[in-house]
Amino acid sequence: MVVSLSALSSAPQIARVLIDGAPSLLLDYRVPESWAGPLESGARVQVRVRQALRTGTVIDLHPSSEAAESEFDLLELEDRSGDESDGIPAGLVRLALWMESYYLAKLTDVLRAIYPEGARETHYRAIEHQAVRVARPPSPEALEKLRQRAPQQARCLAHLGQQTEPIGLAQLGKQGFSRAVVQGLLGKGFLEKTVLRRERDPFAQAEFVESLPLPLTKAQAGALQAILEETQAAVPHPVLLQGVTGSGKTEVYLQAIAQVVASGRDAIVLVPEISLTPQTVNRFKSRFATAETEIAVLHSALGAGERQDEWRKVRCGRARIVIGARSAVFAPVGNLGLIVVDEEQEASYKQDNPPRYHARDLAVLRGHLEKCAVVLGSATPSLESTANVQAGKYRRVQLTTRIGEQALPRFRFVDMRRAGKSALGGGMISELLHQGLSRRLEAGEQAILFLNRRGFSRFLQCPDCAHVVECRHCDVSLTYHRSEERLLCHFCGYQELVPRHCPQCGSRAIQFAGYGTQKVEQVLRGLYPKMRLERVDADSMRRKNRLQEVFRDFKAGKIQVLLGTQLLAKGLHFPNVTLVGLLHADLSLHLPDFRAGERTFQLLVQVAGRAGRGEKAGEVIVQTFSPHSPSLQFARHHDHQGFAEQELELRKAFHFPPYFHLVTVTSRSKKERLAQFTLETLVNRLKKELPPEVLVGEAVPAPVLRVADHYRYQVSLRAPKSRTITAPLKRALLELQASKEVSLLVDVDPV
Ligand code: ADP
Ligand code: ZN
Ligand code: ZN
Repeated sequence: MVVSLSALSSAPQIARVLIDGAPSLLLDYRVPESWAGPLESGARVQVRVRQALRTGTVIDLHPSSEAAESEFDLLELEDRSGDESDGIPAGLVRLALWMESYYLAKLTDVLRAIYPEGARETHYRAIEHQAVRVARPPSPEALEKLRQRAPQQARCLAHLGQQTEPIGLAQLGKQGFSRAVVQGLLGKGFLEKTVLRRERDPFAQAEFVESLPLPLTKAQAGALQAILEETQAAVPHPVLLQGVTGSGKTEVYLQAIAQVVASGRDAIVLVPEISLTPQTVNRFKSRFATAETEIAVLHSALGAGERQDEWRKVRCGRARIVIGARSAVFAPVGNLGLIVVDEEQEASYKQDNPPRYHARDLAVLRGHLEKCAVVLGSATPSLESTANVQAGKYRRVQLTTRIGEQALPRFRFVDMRRAGKSALGGGMISELLHQGLSRRLEAGEQAILFLNRRGFSRFLQCPDCAHVVECRHCDVSLTYHRSEERLLCHFCGYQELVPRHCPQCGSRAIQFAGYGTQKVEQVLRGLYPKMRLERVDADSMRRKNRLQEVFRDFKAGKIQVLLGTQLLAKGLHFPNVTLVGLLHADLSLHLPDFRAGERTFQLLVQVAGRAGRGEKAGEVIVQTFSPHSPSLQFARHHDHQGFAEQELELRKAFHFPPYFHLVTVTSRSKKERLAQFTLETLVNRLKKELPPEVLVGEAVPAPVLRVADHYRYQVSLRAPKSRTITAPLKRALLELQASKEVSLLVDVDPV
């Protein structure tokens, strides 16, 4: 009798298995004692689910506890098998378990994020096209005969003879060759049938011109060297690549990736929101388009089918470079050599529904788990990363000048407390901005104007009784959207018609106050009737690919001025832009958020990076009501160091991130008292259990108390280590037995 190794170990093992195609089905099975060799998480197994044989992935293994009677009834695993390329790589299983415990997330939520539904389809559903190719070239005589008897067939055959690849029947049809013509040629044996397998490629329409690596500047070469050292290191340190906009960071990423891929390993590139950065995607595609490796593009706007294709392409190793938004950190690459996180300070790396992970932090963790290099790139690194450099955890390399040594743009501040009265459009466009814009347009140059508020007017207010029209479901004012002639809630999407008189006192004097992008557009069109202007915000860019079209037209000079929200701030490179205007820089400054100063600083530096990227010098005009605020002043001097030092000192003194971890718990219910009471109960328990180093706040109403008819109360907890909070919090939540009418949401390291 053969005694297997596992039979010698004391207790039999229990495996938790995630069933293919059912993201929330996690079932326990006993590992048969007869199985030889260790079973690891990530392994593919066959199991029985209600009599049927299904395939799944082992997520977790633990020894069976003799006490747990229920475990005696468990079924055994049937077989170890299944196509490896269908499952999650073992590294990602470890990442999932870490997320479950760190973020107090549900494992099923985590797995759904990592392992998109469609990806588990066992059948590979690439689109197949019927196609034909030349089977045997005709002799000159045969061709002549064909010309006379069937000239269409002759033309079709000649056409196909010039192709290196088969051509789809549908495409031949479009080129004017009917089915009958093709059938004729098939019948004569000149053609043969084949199929074209083609994934849906979301970027298929774009054309890519091959781009060659540029000879690096000294600073770039140094940065590349540092990254490559880390790719070789036994224990790699994350590299913070801090370089002003236009300093050539992307070129460094491209060359680092080329080397990593050449050495047989794979790479992931994260960008903040991919549909906003088509230029970046294009740069990667054009650099690597000729290589054997394909590039997979993963982002939230993909259809389920597209997503599935891209995932499979990566999982089976055909695409070895992945570029995508935050969820691409879960790309199932096999042999990870490098992860790049571009614009690492971006808030969009944080997912704001469960599982509430931060993709930059996960990139660093994944790099650690899979021993690969991680590069965080930014012109204005987050204070978290800056602090990690100071603590010696990250290695920093800097690119301090723009390529071609162009000067950074000059900042000019307009104090709207004084200039506001004479400003055009009722306080919108200062004299300085007006003149600057006129001058640039006359010189044939381009401008970008920012206002981080969409819609026409901010709210509708009655001058007689001061009533402001608010959403029925949220505690916020409704914004007037002129194109739809509606009032719209930016929190829940609720819409209503514009009332003609005040709903409270009946006054007809009710009027719009404040302004958004739509109103600025109207004012600008009045001021410059001939100007070719395009508004770019969530309302005007609903149609797919619209943003790409606008950027193309802007680059080609068909558009002179772009006016828009933060959508415009990201990674764009337009050499002819010499003026950037910020209409209301204070919008982000006065938010009730400890990161408000940091965000404002980053926004200013980022938008300034759009100006003067060509030969001509750029200028940034900032309209503000608080010109002396430190965030603005440090940005004016492009002084990240100074800003970081001052801000970090404050954060340290007041026990905020990055020195303390923040955890928030939000209770949410249609019944306000219940939301409040439940959270207070939780906080009271926690106060007893948490160690003294944890700072526990009070249960308070959220900044906007009611959203979509739900009342929200919040508490924030801070401690040097988040586990000090989350471990007791997890227990307290389990014991709480809250009513079904209230939900409690935990956010670890919220943004
Ligand atoms: P960043 O990512 O830091 O904003 P980019 O990599 O986009 O900077 O570089 C800015 C511009 O300079 C791009 O047009 C890029 O093609 C060009 N560039 C980058 N590196 C070099 C180089 N070594 N030589 C010449 N041009 C370069
Ligand atoms: Zn609402
Ligand atoms: Zn009124």
